[in-house]
Amino acid sequence: MSFILTDDNYYSREADINYLSCSQYQTFGECEAKAMAKLQGRWTDEPKEAFLVGNYFHSYFESPEAHDKFCDENFEHIFKTKEEVVQKATKTQPKITRTVVTGKYAPFEKADKMIETVENEELMKRFIDMGGQNELFMTGTIFGVPWRMKMDKYIHDKRFIVDYKTVAKIWETSYDPVKGERVSFVESYGYLFRAAIYSLIECQNEYGITFDEAYKKLCDGELKLPDFFLLCVSKQDVPDKEIIRLNHRQAYIGELENVKKNLIEIMKVKSGVRKPKRCGTCDYCRSTKKLKEIKPYYILKPEFREQREEDYAF
Ligand SMILES: [Zn+2]
Repeated sequence: MSFILTDDNYYSREADINYLSCSQYQTFGECEAKAMAKLQGRWTDEPKEAFLVGNYFHSYFESPEAHDKFCDENFEHIFKTKEEVVQKATKTQPKITRTVVTGKYAPFEKADKMIETVENEELMKRFIDMGGQNELFMTGTIFGVPWRMKMDKYIHDKRFIVDYKTVAKIWETSYDPVKGERVSFVESYGYLFRAAIYSLIECQNEYGITFDEAYKKLCDGELKLPDFFLLCVSKQDVPDKEIIRLNHRQAYIGELENVKKNLIEIMKVKSGVRKPKRCGTCDYCRSTKKLKEIKPYYILKPEFREQREEDYAF
């Protein structure tokens, strides 16, 4: 592999081509056609407001420099401004105005409140004040495939992995049709999956062992795992907060067994052995959709939905 992963190219298409990541894996799970369109540069996700607000929040805890840089680059999305006349036009001179900041847009005002919530919470502040590295990436192998991951914070001497998470409501559950039960945001956003991947990559780096060795030890109950913490703040008007520890050996094994099964198909598609399938409903699929037939009304019900079709938008 001639590609060398750095902080600068971490989020590039080349990085996605050479490494799997948790979010790329999740995109393949949602829509193979979209995942391949992104890999081939035929599709880029529009940055949504929630994404910008999330980055605003994250950059604050990364460093003051990172937060300033983010605010500068996204100035017009964050700040409300007005033009103020400094000097009226005269016979010889044009009018001089300057831009004055009058405040922040509501979602960023809310993000400031969430930041404040974290800062004023003693237990959370202890995590923030602990030495360690912010936005640290690591690479490793999972079932023979190279993966990359980036930790919001890594405290090496304690082996703490910290992830900042903004969530609509911490205690809200939703129905999972696959599991047939209500699950929390930790399950519905795949956080146990993420914790399992991050932990196995961290162990390979920490102990200098292969994935197979680490996985065997995990199954035998002999692998000392890092601690994975979610520092959660809710997006409610009065923000809620919790620190959630995700470590659970059996759950990690379950997640990894699931990855093992899905990786075979993902790698077939990624390497071009099999054509990607369209989910039919995501933004990519909608934008490339071509109608080929008239459908009966009942096809809209999930139990009658047709098989996913191969992507035709090459
Ligand atoms: Zn799709």
